[in-house]
Amino acid sequence: MTQNLSCDDECAGSSGSGAVLIIGLPGQDCSAFGKEVGANGYEVMSADGLDAGLGLVNRNKPSVVLFSIFFPIDETRCAADIRKIREAAGSGRPSIVAFAADAGAAGWKVCVQALSSGADDFVSTPVDGPELAAKLRTHLKLHDFYSEIEEDKKNLETLLAITAAMSATLDSSEVLSIIVSKVADVTGAVRCSIVLAGEKNEAYVLASHEDSSVRELKIDLSRYPEIRRAIETKKTIAIADIVNDPIMSSVRDKVSELKEMSALIVPIVFNDEALGTLFLRVRRRERGFSRKEMDFCGIVANSAFHAMRNARMFARLMQEKNTLQEIAVRDQLTSLFNHNFFYSRLEEEFDRAVRYDMPLSVIMIDIDDFKEVNDRHGHLIGDAVLRDLAAMIKKGVRKTDIVARYGGEEFAVILPHTGLNGALEEGERLREIIESHAYAGLIAEKITISVGVASYPQKAAMNSGELVNSADNALYKAKWSGKNCVRAAD
Ligand code: GH3
Ligand code: MG
Ligand code: MG
Repeated sequence: MTQNLSCDDECAGSSGSGAVLIIGLPGQDCSAFGKEVGANGYEVMSADGLDAGLGLVNRNKPSVVLFSIFFPIDETRCAADIRKIREAAGSGRPSIVAFAADAGAAGWKVCVQALSSGADDFVSTPVDGPELAAKLRTHLKLHDFYSEIEEDKKNLETLLAITAAMSATLDSSEVLSIIVSKVADVTGAVRCSIVLAGEKNEAYVLASHEDSSVRELKIDLSRYPEIRRAIETKKTIAIADIVNDPIMSSVRDKVSELKEMSALIVPIVFNDEALGTLFLRVRRRERGFSRKEMDFCGIVANSAFHAMRNARMFARLMQEKNTLQEIAVRDQLTSLFNHNFFYSRLEEEFDRAVRYDMPLSVIMIDIDDFKEVNDRHGHLIGDAVLRDLAAMIKKGVRKTDIVARYGGEEFAVILPHTGLNGALEEGERLREIIESHAYAGLIAEKITISVGVASYPQKAAMNSGELVNSADNALYKAKWSGKNCVRAAD
């Protein structure tokens, strides 16, 4: 069932198991003890000897360990054993309560010694029911208290790490990745992602702890009704049992493998709009999510919002920067590269050609008698013809060639890795394409071009300036030869 989020008291705090572990000496009969503990309504586990007990401490994280000590006590050994129990418990920190079953009247003395060896308390033997009950109650409360402090500490450390990450990098996707991995660590989530709401049923996974390469993975929210609900209601959705929760009814067959799973979905809200969610799946929680966990995830989701907003702004800025860069290198009329870009690319290509000892060619193109086109049809039609003709040139060259509008009705093509013969072939192909092209809806007459070609390493083309001049000279030769033809530099 979806958790009732107002049940603060019921879910708050206690992350302890409430279980009591009795570690007896090897072969010792602790059943009477076990019965007394069980009579108080606690879950009881028993271990025969310390080694078996350490395994249970490690796996089951009991809240209280009742630990039987040898009589007469060896304080060094007792202290070492208690240390081992604490190590096995890790951050679980159970209360360790000593008892000395076989000490008879000297029992209390032994237990006082156990306290100085690191135990938290002792119970006297033979067992006194009310005393045991009172001590267990106190120690379970203490354990809950420790657990809460431990959880607060972990949460605070996580928030500090997130804050540090946010101030250390401007890269929002990196911040979001850090957030999901830290939240997964602290909550033990098997899946933790930040989802950005999109149009209609679309959403994008911006960061995912299971796969750090995920960036803007598109998902269909009809497959994630729990995320859709959190976005629509702008309220945290906590689901204790994914398979059986009514929210999941529309996808029941698709989530059948998530039998042992719970989910928490926290909306990321700004200006009364849910931008997305923090999304967690964890192994099944018998008691649902604690208020503290939900509050913590709420705070994290809030910091994710800032990273998300930055990510959006950053993406927009990058887009604008790319657009500006594109505008700066393009000719407005034809969308070919402009004169400046032609020269900067030519420099680069020339350097490369020299370095790798490869040929490089330039083709210069000038439209024949273009003034007449303007005179006959007007400048606007002239512009449209220029645009059309530029597109034909672009289509006619190879993918690796760079085509630029060199000036008014002049074009230039850089041909990397191409010698004179290849460039002449390409020039001739372009001349034919233009000669046979019809300018439907613009002008009836044909248009022709004159083409000049030069290549490195020709004698008069030993730097980029000379290469362009040579191609230009070849173009003049073509004009002098009667136009509509291709000529090579001498
Ligand atoms: P030629 O065969 O000798 O090249 O003759 P031409 O008429 O083409 O002469 P030239 O290349 O010297 O003249 C270029 C003409 O191209 C002049 C100008 O009217 C026209 N022109 C240049 N830029 C543009 C432009 O952006 N739009 C239009 N419509 N015309 C342009
Ligand atoms: Mg010209
Ligand atoms: Mg011309």
